[in-house]
Amino acid sequence: MQQKKNSSLNPRHAAKQKLESIERAGVTHLPRSKKPVAKVPSPVRDEVRPAAAGSQPMTTAKVERPHSSAKPPSRLVQLDIIRQEVAACTKCAHLASARTQTVFGVGNPQARLCFIGEAPGADEDRTGEPFVGRAGQLLTKIIEACTLKREDVYILNVLKCRPPDNRPPLPDEVANCRGFLNRQLEVIKPEFICCLGTTASQFLLSTDETIGKLRGRFHEYQGTTVLCTYHPSYLLRNPSAKKDVWEDMKTLLKRMGIEL
Ligand code: URA
Repeated sequence: MQQKKNSSLNPRHAAKQKLESIERAGVTHLPRSKKPVAKVPSPVRDEVRPAAAGSQPMTTAKVERPHSSAKPPSRLVQLDIIRQEVAACTKCAHLASARTQTVFGVGNPQARLCFIGEAPGADEDRTGEPFVGRAGQLLTKIIEACTLKREDVYILNVLKCRPPDNRPPLPDEVANCRGFLNRQLEVIKPEFICCLGTTASQFLLSTDETIGKLRGRFHEYQGTTVLCTYHPSYLLRNPSAKKDVWEDMKTLLKRMGIEL
């Protein structure tokens, strides 16, 4: 007796039917390997930088990853989690009790460039945003002279609370805050960091060298290119140092591929 062609007896036909049914369910790609597809995407960068004519872009753009089933939280969400921890922090009880609010950081979570300052002053403590006082306005001018906007970069401080009378942060305060800064940088993954002044430069690079010695050349921090320069507050007191900062910024922009 002739046997009727049946898919259960014809492996090629059965496989074809299975694929058609998977396709109808909306699956358009299958992994090549027989290894199970990881549910959680690897921690490698999930963004690529779009090509731009002339100069390098300041931010990154997302690309689709068709095989990943679980998306990691966005940088914004990750930063917001840290922001909430910072807002609740009372490790430095004297600073926590005196502050109006913590000052977390501001800017583009995908920024190629981060500026790191020292600690909030009175204006920053009042508004919750770093670098909004006189020194901040000068920093904004510096950023704009670099053909950038504040929203292109990320601006943050070593310390998230205002020290009394704007004194420099104490070593134990810096140590208490270190984890927050490290985590912010881990999320943003900037390619470049510009340390503003002695506190940020010595802290990030774990050195006692003076800002005069550190400025104007590149350093490295965990794979990120670092340039140190004078703090805008110093420039307000010593305007003649502005030309040095401008030289430093030109050095940085050149390395970033940004043409003036
Ligand atoms: N100086 C800093 O270092 N940070 C600020 O946010 C303001 C002034």
